[in-house]
Amino acid sequence: MELEVAVKPDTDKNPIIKALGAGAIVTGAVAAGYAAGKVKGVLDSLSEPRPPYAWRPERGRSVFLKGANVLDVRRGQMLRERGLLFTDGQISDLVSTRDLDKVEADRTFDCRGLFLTPGLVNAHCHILMPCAATISLDLLMSVKRQAVRNVEECARHGVTTVRDAAGLPLILREIARGTESFEILGPRLLTCGSSLMPKGGYPDFSKPLPGWLDEKYGSPAVYVSGPESARESVRQVVDQGARFIKIFFDDRSLFFGHKPLNTFDDETVLSLLDEAHRLGRRVAVHQSQLSGFRRAVRLGVDDLEHVPMDGEITADDVASFMKGDHHITPTASVTMALGIAPPGNPARYHPLVEALQGERERLLSRVGPAVSEAAVMGSNLRMVRGYSDGTLSAWRGKAFTSDNELVLKAIQCAGPTVEKLYQAGATMCCGNDGGTPLSFPGYMVSEMVILEWLGMSRADILKAATLNGAGLLELEGEIGSLEAGKLADILVLSANPLEDLMAMERVEGVFRSGVLLHRGPRLALETQGLRI
Ligand SMILES: [Zn+2]
Repeated sequence: MELEVAVKPDTDKNPIIKALGAGAIVTGAVAAGYAAGKVKGVLDSLSEPRPPYAWRPERGRSVFLKGANVLDVRRGQMLRERGLLFTDGQISDLVSTRDLDKVEADRTFDCRGLFLTPGLVNAHCHILMPCAATISLDLLMSVKRQAVRNVEECARHGVTTVRDAAGLPLILREIARGTESFEILGPRLLTCGSSLMPKGGYPDFSKPLPGWLDEKYGSPAVYVSGPESARESVRQVVDQGARFIKIFFDDRSLFFGHKPLNTFDDETVLSLLDEAHRLGRRVAVHQSQLSGFRRAVRLGVDDLEHVPMDGEITADDVASFMKGDHHITPTASVTMALGIAPPGNPARYHPLVEALQGERERLLSRVGPAVSEAAVMGSNLRMVRGYSDGTLSAWRGKAFTSDNELVLKAIQCAGPTVEKLYQAGATMCCGNDGGTPLSFPGYMVSEMVILEWLGMSRADILKAATLNGAGLLELEGEIGSLEAGKLADILVLSANPLEDLMAMERVEGVFRSGVLLHRGPRLALETQGLRI
Protein backbone atom coordinates (compact mmCIF):
# COMPACT_ATOMS: atom_id res chain seq x y z
CA MET A 1 0.00 0.00 0.00
CA GLU A 2 2.75 2.41 0.97
CA LEU A 3 4.65 1.51 -2.18
CA GLU A 4 1.64 2.35 -4.30
CA VAL A 5 1.42 5.78 -2.68
CA ALA A 6 5.13 6.31 -3.31
CA VAL A 7 4.88 5.62 -7.01
CA LYS A 8 1.51 7.23 -7.51
CA PRO A 9 1.79 10.65 -5.83
CA ASP A 10 -1.30 12.74 -5.68
CA THR A 11 -0.55 14.98 -8.61
CA ASP A 12 -3.56 17.17 -8.01
CA LYS A 13 -2.11 18.36 -4.73
CA ASN A 14 1.62 18.50 -5.50
CA PRO A 15 2.40 21.99 -6.89
CA ILE A 16 5.81 21.01 -8.30
CA ILE A 17 4.41 18.04 -10.25
CA LYS A 18 1.47 20.18 -11.37
CA ALA A 19 3.86 22.82 -12.68
CA LEU A 20 6.02 20.19 -14.39
CA GLY A 21 2.93 18.66 -15.98
CA ALA A 22 1.75 22.03 -17.25
CA GLY A 23 5.27 22.78 -18.51
CA ALA A 24 5.36 19.49 -20.40
CA ILE A 25 2.00 20.26 -22.00
CA VAL A 26 3.15 23.75 -23.01
CA THR A 27 6.50 22.40 -24.32
CA GLY A 28 4.69 19.64 -26.19
CA ALA A 29 2.26 22.13 -27.70
CA VAL A 30 5.09 24.48 -28.71
CA ALA A 31 7.07 21.56 -30.20
CA ALA A 32 4.02 20.30 -32.10
CA GLY A 33 3.33 23.83 -33.34
CA TYR A 34 6.95 24.24 -34.37
CA ALA A 35 6.96 20.88 -36.14
CA ALA A 36 3.66 21.68 -37.92
CA GLY A 37 5.03 25.10 -38.92
CA LYS A 38 8.24 23.52 -40.16
CA VAL A 39 6.34 20.84 -42.12
CA LYS A 40 4.21 23.53 -43.75
CA GLY A 41 7.29 25.66 -44.44
CA VAL A 42 9.09 22.77 -46.15
CA LEU A 43 6.02 21.77 -48.18
CA ASP A 44 5.48 25.39 -49.28
CA SER A 45 9.12 25.67 -50.33
CA LEU A 46 9.09 22.64 -52.66
CA SER A 47 9.48 23.53 -56.32
CA GLU A 48 6.55 23.18 -58.73
CA PRO A 49 6.51 20.33 -61.28
CA ARG A 50 7.51 21.49 -64.77
CA PRO A 51 5.45 21.05 -67.94
CA PRO A 52 6.21 17.70 -69.65
CA TYR A 53 7.61 19.31 -72.83
CA ALA A 54 8.02 22.68 -74.52
CA TRP A 55 6.82 21.85 -78.04
CA ARG A 56 5.80 18.73 -79.89
CA PRO A 57 5.74 18.66 -83.70
CA GLU A 58 2.48 17.44 -85.26
CA ARG A 59 2.44 13.87 -86.59
CA GLY A 60 4.07 13.44 -89.97
CA ARG A 61 5.51 16.99 -89.99
CA SER A 62 9.22 17.40 -90.70
CA VAL A 63 11.49 19.63 -88.64
CA PHE A 64 14.73 21.07 -90.03
CA LEU A 65 17.52 22.42 -87.82
CA LYS A 66 19.24 24.53 -90.46
CA GLY A 67 22.84 25.75 -90.53
CA ALA A 68 23.96 24.24 -87.21
CA ASN A 69 27.39 22.82 -86.52
CA VAL A 70 26.87 19.10 -85.95
CA LEU A 71 29.10 16.86 -83.82
CA ASP A 72 30.26 13.70 -85.58
CA VAL A 73 30.78 11.79 -82.38
CA ARG A 74 32.47 8.80 -84.07
CA ARG A 75 35.26 10.94 -85.54
CA GLY A 76 35.32 13.58 -82.81
CA GLN A 77 34.80 16.39 -85.35
CA MET A 78 32.44 19.32 -85.52
CA LEU A 79 30.88 19.43 -89.02
CA ARG A 80 30.40 23.08 -89.94
CA GLU A 81 27.07 24.53 -91.12
CA ARG A 82 24.99 21.42 -91.70
CA GLY A 83 21.31 20.66 -91.33
CA LEU A 84 19.47 17.98 -89.43
CA LEU A 85 16.09 16.84 -90.68
CA PHE A 86 13.72 14.70 -88.65
CA THR A 87 10.12 13.51 -88.76
CA ASP A 88 8.09 11.66 -86.11
CA GLY A 89 11.06 11.51 -83.77
CA GLN A 90 13.46 9.95 -86.25
CA ILE A 91 16.40 11.58 -88.03
CA SER A 92 15.89 11.27 -91.79
CA ASP A 93 18.90 13.20 -93.08
CA LEU A 94 22.08 14.99 -92.15
CA VAL A 95 22.21 17.69 -94.82
CA SER A 96 25.47 19.04 -96.29
CA THR A 97 26.23 22.77 -96.41
CA ARG A 98 25.64 23.12 -100.14
CA ASP A 99 22.22 21.46 -99.95
CA LEU A 100 20.85 23.50 -97.06
CA ASP A 101 18.61 25.68 -99.25
CA LYS A 102 17.22 22.71 -101.16
CA VAL A 103 15.47 21.21 -98.13
CA GLU A 104 11.77 21.83 -97.78
CA ALA A 105 10.49 21.10 -94.29
CA ASP A 106 7.26 21.84 -92.40
CA ARG A 107 9.25 23.70 -89.72
CA THR A 108 12.67 25.19 -90.25
CA PHE A 109 14.61 26.60 -87.33
CA ASP A 110 17.53 28.90 -88.03
CA CYS A 111 20.37 27.26 -86.07
CA ARG A 112 23.33 29.14 -87.53
CA GLY A 113 26.04 29.51 -84.90
CA LEU A 114 24.59 26.77 -82.72
CA PHE A 115 26.15 23.35 -82.01
CA LEU A 116 24.31 20.02 -82.03
CA THR A 117 25.45 16.97 -80.09
CA PRO A 118 23.61 13.70 -79.54
CA GLY A 119 21.50 13.67 -76.34
CA LEU A 120 23.60 12.53 -73.39
CA VAL A 121 23.41 9.10 -71.77
CA ASN A 122 23.99 9.13 -68.02
CA ALA A 123 25.44 5.63 -67.76
CA HIS A 124 25.21 5.28 -63.99
CA CYS A 125 22.90 7.15 -61.65
CA HIS A 126 20.07 6.67 -59.17
CA ILE A 127 16.99 8.74 -59.96
CA LEU A 128 15.25 7.96 -56.66
CA MET A 129 18.15 8.79 -54.38
CA PRO A 130 18.09 12.26 -52.81
CA CYS A 131 21.55 13.55 -53.88
CA ALA A 132 22.34 14.03 -50.19
CA ALA A 133 23.43 11.95 -47.21
CA THR A 134 22.75 13.63 -43.86
CA ILE A 135 19.14 12.87 -43.01
CA SER A 136 16.74 15.46 -41.59
CA LEU A 137 12.97 15.99 -41.52
CA ASP A 138 13.06 18.52 -44.34
CA LEU A 139 15.18 16.21 -46.51
CA LEU A 140 12.79 13.30 -45.97
CA MET A 141 9.90 15.56 -46.94
CA SER A 142 11.71 16.63 -50.10
CA VAL A 143 12.80 13.20 -51.34
CA LYS A 144 9.72 12.55 -53.49
CA ARG A 145 9.87 15.93 -55.21
CA GLN A 146 13.64 15.63 -55.69
CA ALA A 147 13.18 12.27 -57.45
CA VAL A 148 10.87 13.87 -60.02
CA ARG A 149 13.11 16.93 -60.13
CA ASN A 150 16.01 14.61 -60.99
CA VAL A 151 14.28 13.49 -64.20
CA GLU A 152 13.12 17.04 -65.01
CA GLU A 153 16.67 18.38 -64.68
CA CYS A 154 17.93 15.64 -67.02
CA ALA A 155 15.63 17.03 -69.68
CA ARG A 156 16.79 20.59 -69.03
CA HIS A 157 20.50 19.70 -69.23
CA GLY A 158 20.53 17.45 -72.28
CA VAL A 159 20.49 14.02 -70.62
CA THR A 160 17.99 12.19 -72.83
CA THR A 161 18.73 8.64 -71.63
CA VAL A 162 19.38 7.41 -68.12
CA ARG A 163 20.71 4.03 -67.03
CA ASP A 164 19.49 3.74 -63.45
CA ALA A 165 21.79 1.50 -61.41
CA ALA A 166 19.42 0.58 -58.52
CA GLY A 167 16.33 2.01 -56.90
CA LEU A 168 12.73 1.00 -56.18
CA PRO A 169 11.80 -0.90 -59.38
CA LEU A 170 8.04 -0.30 -59.42
CA ILE A 171 8.39 3.44 -58.81
CA LEU A 172 11.10 3.64 -61.45
CA ARG A 173 8.86 1.80 -63.89
CA GLU A 174 6.08 4.31 -63.24
CA ILE A 175 8.40 7.27 -63.82
CA ALA A 176 9.82 5.58 -66.94
CA ARG A 177 6.30 5.20 -68.34
CA GLY A 178 5.55 8.84 -67.54
CA THR A 179 8.61 10.20 -69.32
CA GLU A 180 8.28 7.80 -72.26
CA SER A 181 4.71 9.00 -72.90
CA PHE A 182 5.69 12.67 -72.35
CA GLU A 183 3.44 13.01 -69.29
CA ILE A 184 6.44 13.76 -67.09
CA LEU A 185 9.35 15.95 -68.25
CA GLY A 186 12.36 13.68 -68.38
CA PRO A 187 14.69 11.27 -70.16
CA ARG A 188 14.21 7.76 -71.46
CA LEU A 189 14.76 5.68 -68.33
CA LEU A 190 16.25 2.16 -68.35
CA THR A 191 16.92 0.38 -65.09
CA CYS A 192 18.34 -2.74 -63.48
CA GLY A 193 15.27 -2.99 -61.26
CA SER A 194 16.21 -4.68 -57.97
CA SER A 195 19.91 -5.33 -57.64
CA LEU A 196 21.03 -8.83 -56.65
CA MET A 197 23.08 -9.27 -53.48
CA PRO A 198 24.04 -11.93 -50.95
CA LYS A 199 22.63 -11.51 -47.45
CA GLY A 200 25.14 -9.47 -45.44
CA GLY A 201 26.78 -8.17 -48.61
CA TYR A 202 27.24 -4.79 -50.28
CA PRO A 203 25.26 -2.50 -50.42
CA ASP A 204 25.10 -2.62 -46.63
CA PHE A 205 22.47 0.16 -46.61
CA SER A 206 20.07 -1.82 -48.78
CA LYS A 207 17.92 -4.87 -48.18
CA PRO A 208 14.68 -6.39 -49.50
CA LEU A 209 11.56 -4.54 -48.32
CA PRO A 210 8.95 -6.37 -46.22
CA GLY A 211 5.77 -7.79 -47.90
CA TRP A 212 3.37 -4.91 -48.54
CA LEU A 213 6.11 -2.34 -49.17
CA ASP A 214 7.72 -4.72 -51.67
CA GLU A 215 4.37 -5.11 -53.43
CA LYS A 216 3.87 -1.36 -53.58
CA TYR A 217 7.35 -0.12 -54.47
CA GLY A 218 9.43 -3.19 -55.34
CA SER A 219 12.60 -3.88 -53.38
CA PRO A 220 15.86 -2.09 -54.12
CA ALA A 221 17.65 -5.43 -53.62
CA VAL A 222 16.87 -9.13 -53.77
CA TYR A 223 18.85 -11.69 -51.75
CA VAL A 224 20.47 -14.46 -53.76
CA SER A 225 21.58 -17.59 -51.91
CA GLY A 226 23.30 -19.77 -54.51
CA PRO A 227 23.44 -20.71 -58.19
CA GLU A 228 19.77 -21.75 -58.54
CA SER A 229 18.51 -18.76 -56.60
CA ALA A 230 20.68 -16.57 -58.87
CA ARG A 231 18.93 -17.91 -61.98
CA GLU A 232 15.53 -17.45 -60.40
CA SER A 233 16.30 -13.88 -59.29
CA VAL A 234 17.57 -12.93 -62.75
CA ARG A 235 14.29 -14.18 -64.27
CA GLN A 236 12.31 -12.27 -61.62
CA VAL A 237 13.99 -8.90 -62.22
CA VAL A 238 13.88 -9.32 -65.99
CA ASP A 239 10.14 -10.00 -65.64
CA GLN A 240 9.86 -6.74 -63.70
CA GLY A 241 11.47 -4.89 -66.62
CA ALA A 242 15.19 -4.90 -65.80
CA ARG A 243 17.26 -3.84 -68.79
CA PHE A 244 20.48 -5.10 -67.17
CA ILE A 245 21.47 -7.01 -64.05
CA LYS A 246 23.36 -5.34 -61.22
CA ILE A 247 25.61 -7.16 -58.75
CA PHE A 248 28.40 -6.21 -56.30
CA PHE A 249 31.91 -7.49 -55.57
CA ASP A 250 33.02 -5.37 -52.58
CA ASP A 251 33.94 -7.46 -49.54
CA ARG A 252 34.32 -4.43 -47.23
CA SER A 253 31.93 -1.61 -46.42
CA LEU A 254 32.71 1.87 -47.78
CA PHE A 255 31.41 3.34 -44.54
CA PHE A 256 33.52 4.20 -41.49
CA GLY A 257 34.68 0.98 -39.86
CA HIS A 258 34.97 -0.94 -43.19
CA LYS A 259 32.89 -3.82 -41.89
CA PRO A 260 33.62 -7.12 -43.74
CA LEU A 261 30.84 -8.10 -46.18
CA ASN A 262 29.74 -11.30 -47.91
CA THR A 263 30.12 -11.77 -51.67
CA PHE A 264 28.80 -14.33 -54.15
CA ASP A 265 30.95 -17.40 -54.80
CA ASP A 266 32.20 -17.97 -58.37
CA GLU A 267 29.61 -20.64 -59.10
CA THR A 268 26.75 -18.27 -58.24
CA VAL A 269 28.22 -15.50 -60.42
CA LEU A 270 28.67 -17.89 -63.37
CA SER A 271 25.06 -19.12 -63.10
CA LEU A 272 23.82 -15.56 -62.87
CA LEU A 273 25.83 -14.54 -65.95
CA ASP A 274 24.60 -17.55 -67.88
CA GLU A 275 20.94 -16.88 -67.09
CA ALA A 276 21.26 -13.15 -67.80
CA HIS A 277 22.92 -13.80 -71.17
CA ARG A 278 20.31 -16.40 -72.04
CA LEU A 279 17.68 -13.67 -71.50
CA GLY A 280 19.68 -11.10 -73.49
CA ARG A 281 20.79 -8.97 -70.55
CA ARG A 282 24.25 -7.63 -69.74
CA VAL A 283 25.50 -7.89 -66.17
CA ALA A 284 27.07 -4.90 -64.41
CA VAL A 285 29.14 -5.17 -61.28
CA HIS A 286 29.85 -2.56 -58.67
CA GLN A 287 33.52 -2.98 -57.76
CA SER A 288 35.61 -0.50 -55.80
CA GLN A 289 38.49 -2.80 -54.87
CA LEU A 290 41.31 -4.25 -56.98
CA SER A 291 40.17 -7.76 -56.00
CA GLY A 292 36.68 -6.99 -57.38
CA PHE A 293 38.04 -5.55 -60.64
CA ARG A 294 40.17 -8.67 -61.18
CA ARG A 295 37.31 -11.00 -60.32
CA ALA A 296 34.95 -9.24 -62.74
CA VAL A 297 37.44 -9.56 -65.58
CA ARG A 298 38.32 -13.18 -64.71
CA LEU A 299 34.67 -14.30 -64.56
CA GLY A 300 33.65 -12.34 -67.65
CA VAL A 301 31.16 -9.96 -66.04
CA ASP A 302 30.13 -7.63 -68.86
CA ASP A 303 30.39 -4.16 -67.43
CA LEU A 304 32.27 -2.55 -64.55
CA GLU A 305 30.85 0.27 -62.44
CA HIS A 306 33.35 2.62 -60.70
CA VAL A 307 37.13 1.93 -60.47
CA PRO A 308 39.17 0.37 -57.65
CA MET A 309 39.72 2.76 -54.74
CA ASP A 310 42.41 0.76 -52.95
CA GLY A 311 45.18 0.69 -55.55
CA GLU A 312 46.18 1.19 -59.19
CA ILE A 313 45.54 -1.52 -61.72
CA THR A 314 48.63 -3.07 -63.38
CA ALA A 315 49.53 -3.52 -67.06
CA ASP A 316 48.41 -7.17 -66.73
CA ASP A 317 45.00 -6.03 -65.41
CA VAL A 318 44.64 -3.71 -68.39
CA ALA A 319 45.58 -6.50 -70.80
CA SER A 320 43.02 -8.87 -69.24
CA PHE A 321 40.32 -6.18 -69.34
CA MET A 322 41.01 -5.49 -73.01
CA LYS A 323 40.56 -9.16 -73.93
CA GLY A 324 36.88 -9.08 -72.92
CA ASP A 325 33.89 -7.12 -74.20
CA HIS A 326 33.66 -4.74 -71.23
CA HIS A 327 32.52 -1.17 -70.69
CA ILE A 328 33.68 0.74 -67.64
CA THR A 329 31.97 3.75 -66.04
CA PRO A 330 34.40 5.42 -63.60
CA THR A 331 31.81 7.67 -61.77
CA ALA A 332 34.57 10.13 -60.83
CA SER A 333 32.03 12.60 -59.41
CA VAL A 334 31.88 10.57 -56.18
CA THR A 335 35.44 11.58 -55.41
CA MET A 336 34.48 15.22 -55.96
CA ALA A 337 31.64 15.00 -53.45
CA LEU A 338 33.29 12.92 -50.74
CA GLY A 339 37.05 13.43 -51.17
CA ILE A 340 37.22 16.10 -48.51
CA ALA A 341 40.53 16.48 -46.66
CA PRO A 342 40.23 17.96 -43.16
CA PRO A 343 42.95 20.38 -41.95
CA GLY A 344 46.20 18.53 -41.23
CA ASN A 345 45.50 15.77 -43.75
CA PRO A 346 48.40 15.70 -46.25
CA ALA A 347 46.08 14.67 -49.11
CA ARG A 348 44.76 18.24 -48.94
CA TYR A 349 47.64 19.43 -51.15
CA HIS A 350 47.31 16.77 -53.85
CA PRO A 351 46.61 18.76 -57.06
CA LEU A 352 43.57 16.63 -57.97
CA VAL A 353 42.11 16.93 -54.45
CA GLU A 354 42.52 20.71 -54.74
CA ALA A 355 40.93 20.78 -58.20
CA LEU A 356 38.01 18.65 -56.98
CA GLN A 357 37.52 21.02 -54.07
CA GLY A 358 37.09 23.90 -56.53
CA GLU A 359 34.50 21.88 -58.47
CA ARG A 360 32.72 20.95 -55.22
CA GLU A 361 32.50 24.61 -54.24
CA ARG A 362 31.01 25.43 -57.65
CA LEU A 363 28.43 22.67 -57.16
CA LEU A 364 27.56 23.93 -53.68
CA SER A 365 27.24 27.58 -54.62
CA ARG A 366 25.89 27.59 -58.16
CA VAL A 367 24.83 24.29 -59.69
CA GLY A 368 23.22 22.53 -56.71
CA PRO A 369 20.73 25.31 -55.90
CA ALA A 370 19.63 25.34 -59.57
CA VAL A 371 18.91 21.61 -59.79
CA SER A 372 17.77 20.56 -56.33
CA GLU A 373 15.37 21.32 -53.51
CA ALA A 374 16.50 23.61 -50.64
CA ALA A 375 16.66 20.73 -48.13
CA VAL A 376 18.98 18.79 -50.44
CA MET A 377 21.43 21.67 -50.49
CA GLY A 378 21.11 22.13 -46.71
CA SER A 379 22.01 18.49 -46.24
CA ASN A 380 24.99 18.73 -48.58
CA LEU A 381 26.31 21.82 -46.81
CA ARG A 382 26.06 19.98 -43.47
CA MET A 383 27.86 16.98 -44.96
CA VAL A 384 30.73 19.04 -46.38
CA ARG A 385 31.07 20.90 -43.07
CA GLY A 386 31.02 17.59 -41.17
CA TYR A 387 33.83 16.09 -43.27
CA SER A 388 35.84 19.33 -43.23
CA ASP A 389 35.84 19.68 -39.43
CA GLY A 390 36.02 15.95 -38.72
CA THR A 391 32.67 15.74 -36.90
CA LEU A 392 31.27 13.18 -39.35
CA SER A 393 34.17 10.81 -38.68
CA ALA A 394 33.09 10.84 -35.02
CA TRP A 395 30.25 8.60 -36.23
CA ARG A 396 32.85 5.99 -37.11
CA GLY A 397 31.15 2.61 -37.29
CA LYS A 398 27.89 3.92 -35.89
CA ALA A 399 26.09 5.21 -38.95
CA PHE A 400 25.93 4.91 -42.72
CA THR A 401 28.60 7.48 -43.36
CA SER A 402 31.10 7.04 -46.19
CA ASP A 403 34.72 7.10 -45.12
CA ASN A 404 36.25 10.18 -46.76
CA GLU A 405 39.81 8.89 -46.10
CA LEU A 406 39.02 5.95 -48.36
CA VAL A 407 37.85 8.38 -51.04
CA LEU A 408 40.97 10.54 -50.63
CA LYS A 409 43.09 7.45 -51.23
CA ALA A 410 40.92 6.63 -54.26
CA ILE A 411 41.59 10.04 -55.80
CA GLN A 412 45.30 9.27 -55.80
CA CYS A 413 45.05 5.81 -57.38
CA ALA A 414 41.88 6.04 -59.52
CA GLY A 415 43.36 8.77 -61.75
CA PRO A 416 46.20 6.56 -63.04
CA THR A 417 43.76 3.63 -63.40
CA VAL A 418 41.41 5.64 -65.61
CA GLU A 419 44.35 6.91 -67.64
CA LYS A 420 45.78 3.40 -68.21
CA LEU A 421 42.41 2.01 -69.34
CA TYR A 422 41.80 4.99 -71.60
CA GLN A 423 45.25 4.80 -73.19
CA ALA A 424 44.69 1.11 -73.89
CA GLY A 425 41.46 1.95 -75.75
CA ALA A 426 38.94 0.69 -73.17
CA THR A 427 35.28 1.54 -73.83
CA MET A 428 34.68 4.26 -71.23
CA CYS A 429 31.19 5.48 -70.36
CA CYS A 430 30.11 8.63 -68.60
CA GLY A 431 27.97 8.27 -65.49
CA ASN A 432 28.08 10.46 -62.43
CA ASP A 433 26.42 8.24 -59.79
CA GLY A 434 23.86 11.07 -59.55
CA GLY A 435 21.59 10.60 -56.55
CA THR A 436 24.59 10.14 -54.26
CA PRO A 437 25.62 13.23 -52.27
CA LEU A 438 26.17 16.39 -54.30
CA SER A 439 25.78 14.57 -57.61
CA PHE A 440 22.70 15.16 -59.73
CA PRO A 441 21.48 12.77 -62.48
CA GLY A 442 20.83 15.69 -64.85
CA TYR A 443 24.14 17.46 -64.38
CA MET A 444 26.95 15.57 -66.09
CA VAL A 445 29.30 18.51 -66.65
CA SER A 446 31.37 17.82 -63.50
CA GLU A 447 31.90 14.20 -64.49
CA MET A 448 32.98 15.26 -67.97
CA VAL A 449 35.33 17.94 -66.64
CA ILE A 450 36.94 15.52 -64.15
CA LEU A 451 37.47 12.92 -66.90
CA GLU A 452 39.33 15.62 -68.83
CA TRP A 453 41.54 16.24 -65.79
CA LEU A 454 42.23 12.49 -65.74
CA GLY A 455 43.63 12.66 -69.26
CA MET A 456 40.73 11.92 -71.63
CA SER A 457 40.30 14.10 -74.72
CA ARG A 458 37.13 16.18 -75.03
CA ALA A 459 36.14 14.28 -78.18
CA ASP A 460 36.44 10.94 -76.36
CA ILE A 461 34.52 12.25 -73.34
CA LEU A 462 31.68 13.30 -75.63
CA LYS A 463 31.76 9.86 -77.23
CA ALA A 464 31.74 8.23 -73.77
CA ALA A 465 28.71 10.33 -72.82
CA THR A 466 26.77 9.43 -75.97
CA LEU A 467 27.74 6.55 -78.27
CA ASN A 468 29.48 4.40 -75.64
CA GLY A 469 26.54 4.83 -73.25
CA ALA A 470 24.22 3.75 -76.07
CA GLY A 471 26.37 0.64 -76.60
CA LEU A 472 26.27 -0.14 -72.88
CA LEU A 473 22.48 -0.20 -73.09
CA GLU A 474 22.59 -2.06 -76.42
CA LEU A 475 20.79 0.87 -78.05
CA GLU A 476 23.57 1.74 -80.49
CA GLY A 477 21.20 1.40 -83.45
CA GLU A 478 18.77 3.95 -81.97
CA ILE A 479 20.65 6.59 -80.01
CA GLY A 480 24.15 7.91 -79.31
CA SER A 481 24.94 9.72 -82.59
CA LEU A 482 23.28 12.11 -85.01
CA GLU A 483 22.79 9.87 -88.04
CA ALA A 484 19.90 9.07 -90.36
CA GLY A 485 17.68 6.32 -88.95
CA LYS A 486 18.39 7.11 -85.30
CA LEU A 487 16.06 8.80 -82.85
CA ALA A 488 16.12 12.59 -82.81
CA ASP A 489 17.74 12.94 -79.37
CA ILE A 490 19.51 16.24 -79.84
CA LEU A 491 21.24 18.65 -77.51
CA VAL A 492 21.50 22.18 -78.91
CA LEU A 493 24.31 24.32 -77.45
CA SER A 494 25.43 27.89 -78.00
CA ALA A 495 29.15 27.03 -77.72
CA ASN A 496 31.46 24.29 -79.00
CA PRO A 497 32.09 21.53 -76.42
CA LEU A 498 35.12 20.30 -78.39
CA GLU A 499 36.78 23.60 -77.46
CA ASP A 500 35.58 23.79 -73.86
CA LEU A 501 33.43 21.25 -71.99
CA MET A 502 31.78 24.06 -70.04
CA ALA A 503 29.85 24.62 -73.30
CA MET A 504 27.68 21.73 -72.07
CA GLU A 505 26.14 24.24 -69.66
CA ARG A 506 25.02 26.54 -72.47
CA VAL A 507 21.88 24.63 -73.40
CA GLU A 508 19.70 26.17 -76.09
CA GLY A 509 17.43 23.20 -76.58
CA VAL A 510 16.91 19.52 -75.83
CA PHE A 511 14.95 17.18 -78.11
CA ARG A 512 14.09 13.61 -77.18
CA SER A 513 12.56 11.49 -79.95
CA GLY A 514 11.95 14.77 -81.78
CA VAL A 515 9.95 16.39 -78.96
CA LEU A 516 11.39 19.67 -77.70
CA LEU A 517 11.68 19.06 -73.96
CA HIS A 518 13.42 22.28 -73.07
CA ARG A 519 14.24 25.49 -74.91
CA GLY A 520 16.68 28.30 -74.21
CA PRO A 521 16.21 31.88 -75.47
CA ARG A 522 17.28 31.18 -79.06
CA LEU A 523 14.95 28.21 -79.63
CA ALA A 524 12.21 29.98 -77.68
CA LEU A 525 12.40 32.70 -80.33
CA GLU A 526 12.39 30.13 -83.14
CA THR A 527 9.41 28.24 -81.73
CA GLN A 528 7.48 31.36 -80.69
CA GLY A 529 3.82 31.11 -81.54
CA LEU A 530 3.98 27.42 -82.33
CA ARG A 531 1.17 25.42 -80.82
CA ILE A 532 2.27 23.37 -77.85
ZN1 LIG B 1 25.75 3.91 -57.97
